[in-house]
Amino acid sequence: MTNQALVRVTQDGEVAVITVNNPPVNTITTAVRAGLDRALRELAALPGVRAVLLRCEGSTFFSGADIGEFSGPPKEAEYREIFERIENLPVPVVAAMHGTVMGGGLEITLACHYRVASPGTRFGLPEVTLGIIPGGGGTQRMPRLIGIDKSLELILGARPVDAVEATKLGFLDEVIAGDLLAGALAYVRRLLAAGAGPRRTADRTVEPISPDSLARFKEQARTQYPNRVAALTAIEAVTASATLAFGDGLLLEDKLVNAAKLTPESRGAVHVFFAEREARKVVGLPAGAGRAIGSAGIVGAGTMGGGIAMCFANAGIPVTLVDASAEGLQRGLAVIDQNYQSMVKRGRLKPEEKERRMALISTAPDYSAFATVDVIIEAVYEDMGLKKQIFGQLDRVAKPGAMLASNTSTLDVTEIARATGRPSDVIGTHFFSPANVMPLLELVRTELTGPGTIRTAMDLAKALRKTPVLARVCYGFVGNRMMEGYAREAERMVLEGATPRQVDTALEQWGMAMGILAVFDMAGVDVGVNVHKANAHRYPPDLTYYQADFALVEAGRLGQKNGKGYYRYVPGDRARHEDAEALSILRARSQQLGVPQRTHSSQEILDRCLYPLLNEGLRILEEGVVQRASDIDVVWTSGYGFPRYRGGPMWYAETLGLPKLLEGIQRFAREFGPMHWEPAPLLVELVRSGRSIAQWEAEHSGSGR
Ligand code: NAD
Repeated sequence: MTNQALVRVTQDGEVAVITVNNPPVNTITTAVRAGLDRALRELAALPGVRAVLLRCEGSTFFSGADIGEFSGPPKEAEYREIFERIENLPVPVVAAMHGTVMGGGLEITLACHYRVASPGTRFGLPEVTLGIIPGGGGTQRMPRLIGIDKSLELILGARPVDAVEATKLGFLDEVIAGDLLAGALAYVRRLLAAGAGPRRTADRTVEPISPDSLARFKEQARTQYPNRVAALTAIEAVTASATLAFGDGLLLEDKLVNAAKLTPESRGAVHVFFAEREARKVVGLPAGAGRAIGSAGIVGAGTMGGGIAMCFANAGIPVTLVDASAEGLQRGLAVIDQNYQSMVKRGRLKPEEKERRMALISTAPDYSAFATVDVIIEAVYEDMGLKKQIFGQLDRVAKPGAMLASNTSTLDVTEIARATGRPSDVIGTHFFSPANVMPLLELVRTELTGPGTIRTAMDLAKALRKTPVLARVCYGFVGNRMMEGYAREAERMVLEGATPRQVDTALEQWGMAMGILAVFDMAGVDVGVNVHKANAHRYPPDLTYYQADFALVEAGRLGQKNGKGYYRYVPGDRARHEDAEALSILRARSQQLGVPQRTHSSQEILDRCLYPLLNEGLRILEEGVVQRASDIDVVWTSGYGFPRYRGGPMWYAETLGLPKLLEGIQRFAREFGPMHWEPAPLLVELVRSGRSIAQWEAEHSGSGR
C-alpha cells in the first residue's frame, strides 16, 4: 500500500481512502499529480474495494491548481487525464472537502461521483480574476451538474460560496457536521447500502442557455470585467457544454484556457499574485524568529487608531487603546462598535462574533497599560513634536523588545525613532484608510531598524492578514509619493477646464477603482490641503499646485463628510453629482491664477496622470526605497485601486514601453515646461541602453538594496 507522505492510500474495509497531505494548502502540484497517478494505479490492484474516498489533511482540501505552472508549458492535459481516470473508476468516488476549495481544487471534485463537505467549507471558481477560465474540466462538468446559468453565476461571480449555497446550487450532496472522515465514511457506506454506483458527471447532458440569459451574462461580463476578455471566454466555454460532446468540450476549454494565459490581463494579474508573495520576503535579513505578537497597544483612538484596533481584534489579538482624552476614547470605541454593528446588519458578522471582538478591545487612561504589550502603534495627529514626545514616553514604559511603530504618512520615521533610546525597535507601519478594510500595509524601515523588528512587522502583517511592502524612509514613502504627480495633473486639468467627472471617468474607464478626485472627496479634501500646507517647502514653485483642493476647502467644500467637494452628495447616498457651484469655484480659481483653458481627450487625461506615476516609481526603484519593482506594483494594486489586470505601475510601464513613456514625458515637458516633467534618470538610462526594468533588476540584485 502506498504510504508516501504526499498521497497515500489506505483501506477502511471495502472503502479505499486516498489522503493527500501537501502543506500548507494542498496545492495540486506536479508531485501531487504524480502521487494521485500512483494512488490510482494502486487502487486497481487492491482487493475488495467497493468505493473510493478522496480527502486531504491539514487546513484545507485542495485549495487549487499550482499557479506557478501558469507561465510554463500547458499542464491542463495532465489534470484532465487524472480527473478522467477518477471519473472512470468502476466504483463510486466521493470527495470529502473542508477549508477553501478553489479552482482546480473544486474541479477535481466535479470528476468525483459524489461530494460532501464540512459546514465551514468555501468553494469557488475565481479563474476569471486571474484572466483565465477554469481549465480542469470545470467549464464542461459544472454545467452538467448545475446547469449553465448557475455555473456562469459562480464563474463570473468569482467569489467563494459556502456549503449552504453550494448545496443550493447543486454541486454539493451533503454537509457533514463533526468529524469529516468518520462522517464521509458513513456517507459512503450509506451509498453502498443503497446500491448506488458511480455517477459520472461526463455522462450528463446540458440544457442550452436561453438567448435572454446569454445576453444578460455577456452584459455582466462586460460591466463587471471591463477592458478584459476572460469572462466572455468563460461564457463561450460554458455554453459550449450544451452543444459539444464532453470530450470535444474539454478540447475547446483547453484551447481557450491556453490562449487566455497569454493575454495581457492574465499576465498582469498573475504577476500581481506572485508579487504579493514576493513582497513578504526580506532580502538579506538574517535568519531568526520575529518576536511574539500576543497583545498590542494603540496610541490615538481616531480614524486610524480605531481601524487598526479592529484589525487586531479581527485577528483575535487583544488590544488596548489610549487617547489624549476620555471623550476621544469613548468616541473611538463608539465608532468601532458602529462599524461592527453595520457588519452585523449586513449579515457579514454574527452578533456573538461582534461581542467577542469588542471584548478584545480595551481602553486605558495612560501608557502604563502598555508595559506588557508586544506591539505599540502610534496613530495620533500628524505632528512631529507630538510624535517624538509620545515615543519618548513609550520608551520609558514599553517592555524590552516591544515593537514601537508609527502610522505616520509623511513624517521622517528616523527622527521619531531617535526620540527613543531603542531606535532599532522602531518602524513605520503605514495602514491605509479604512484600516480594517484596506489590505495594504507599508512597512517603513529606517537605517536604524533592527532585523528582528522588520521580521516582527512582517509577522504582524501576516497575523492581521495584510499585504505588506517594505519601504525605506522618504517623503510619502511609496504610495503617496507616487500619487503626488498623478493627482497634481488631475487637479491641474480641472483648473484647465476639465470637469471632475471627466477626469475621474477617464481614469475609471481605464481601470482605476475610483477616480482620484472622488478619492479626495472620500478621504476629505482638507486632509490633502493640510498635508500640502505643512509641506509647502517640499513642492515645486508652481502657483497652481494643488490649487483645486485649496479652492474647494477655502469655500468650505471638504468632500463626502459635509456633502460637497469636487462633487455634491445627498445624505444616505454616496453617488457623485456634478455640482455647478464646485465648477464655478474651480473656474474662478483658474481665472485668478491665469491658467490657460483647453479641452482634454480621455487619452490626454490618462497620459498626464499615469506618466508622472510611472516616472516616480522608477525614481523610487533606482533609489532603493523598495526591494524590487514588483513591490511598487503591490502598493498600487492593493492600496490605490490600480487594476490588477494591468499588473501595477512598473509592470504596466514595461507593457506600455519605456521609450513611449519617455517620449510622452518629453512631449509634456515641451508643452507645459520642464518643472514637473523631468524624466527619471533610470528611465532615460534604460531607454538609452535598450534594457527593461527586469533586466536592470537582474543586474542589480544582490546589491543589498
Ligand atoms: P485622527 O485625527 O482621526 O485621530 C487622532 C487621534 O489621536 C485623536 O483621537 C486624538 O484625540 C488622538 N491624540 C492626539 N494627541 C494625543 C496624545 N497626546 N495622546 C494620545 N492620543 C492623542 O487622525 P487619523 O486620521 O487617525 O491619523 C492618525 C495618523 O495616521 C496620522 O499620523 C496620519 O497621518 C496617519 N494616517 C492617516 C490616514 C487617514 O486616511 N486618515 C491614513 C494613513 C495614515
